[in-house]
Amino acid sequence: MASEIEKVKVLIIGSGPAGYTAAIYASRAGLSPVLYTGGQPGGQLTITTDVENYPGYPNGIMGPEMMEDFRKQAERFGTQIRYGVVTKVDFSAQPHKVIVDDQVEIHADTVIISTGASAKWLGLESEERLNGRGVSACAVCDGFFFRGQDVAIVGAGDTACEEASYLANICSKVYMLVRREEMRASQIMQKRVMNNPKIEILWNTETEEILGENEVEAVRVYNNKTKESNEIKVSGFFVAIGHEPNTGIFKNIIDMDENGYIKTIPGSTRTNVEGVFACGDAQDHIYRQAVTAAGTGCMAALDAERYLAAKELV
Ligand code: NDP
Repeated sequence: MASEIEKVKVLIIGSGPAGYTAAIYASRAGLSPVLYTGGQPGGQLTITTDVENYPGYPNGIMGPEMMEDFRKQAERFGTQIRYGVVTKVDFSAQPHKVIVDDQVEIHADTVIISTGASAKWLGLESEERLNGRGVSACAVCDGFFFRGQDVAIVGAGDTACEEASYLANICSKVYMLVRREEMRASQIMQKRVMNNPKIEILWNTETEEILGENEVEAVRVYNNKTKESNEIKVSGFFVAIGHEPNTGIFKNIIDMDENGYIKTIPGSTRTNVEGVFACGDAQDHIYRQAVTAAGTGCMAALDAERYLAAKELV
């Protein structure tokens, strides 16, 4: 443990649109926030390509570039941005205690949780064994390794459609494995994959096993209508089946729903613990957009500011 414990007014955990927006507002309010980035600085948008739906960018922007802009804007007003992962919290008394990388202890009057969400996996043994050897949850990160090759992607939401389209630009063929007879994705995204001649959609199709000793060689799929199994030769297998919130360290401390999303008091970002606020995907399983995350990040900073003022901590 560090010999001298640092005291801060606002500690922000996470560096996606929610965390950085909270930082912009808190720093402009003179609260000198400290922000810990977590293991994936910039969050989920750093592993996406074009963002076309964030207002203010009429021509779209690349996710990593947008997050770089968010970071610079937060720094411009004095946010201290630090690389580190919060490993433990103790919210039982004021000030709240936060441990970073199992080493540094920080005492914070307010904590803003903006830890986001992470990719889900199918849970197959072969998926885990071949992870990084052809299995990936990020087409944008790993698609390049499969250029000119055949790949498969599982999922039928907007993410799967976006990633299938991305892969089709690089790979020779993309099999899209959809477990039902319809997709969950928005109409525009569905049309994009259906009209792409390099994408073949396999409906009612589930993944039985990913085949290969040291690298992906094929995938064995199962048609839940015809009850037939079938092998498809692919060298890459991408998983795009949604996300789960990164809220494990707050379990039994902060109220959550059954899926681990943090519960906030309606109309606010307040949690069940005084002085602890939650924003972004860590508390939102419905909208999950960069712009809504940024919006709740703003709310969290304003809620923290009001709390500090009411407690005469500023
Ligand atoms: P979603 O939860 O929307 O979709 C997950 C998909 O994976 C569903 O089609 C689901 O199938 C499928 N799935 C889940 N588990 C399995 C499994 N074990 N085997 C096979 N398939 C499975 O997640 P997304 O990540 O796609 O999207 C999350 C949110 O982000 C959405 O609100 C989306 O609109 C938004 N988004 C928006 C984008 C944009 O606008 N540019 C881009 C990307 C995401 P089933 O339908 O059968 O349940």
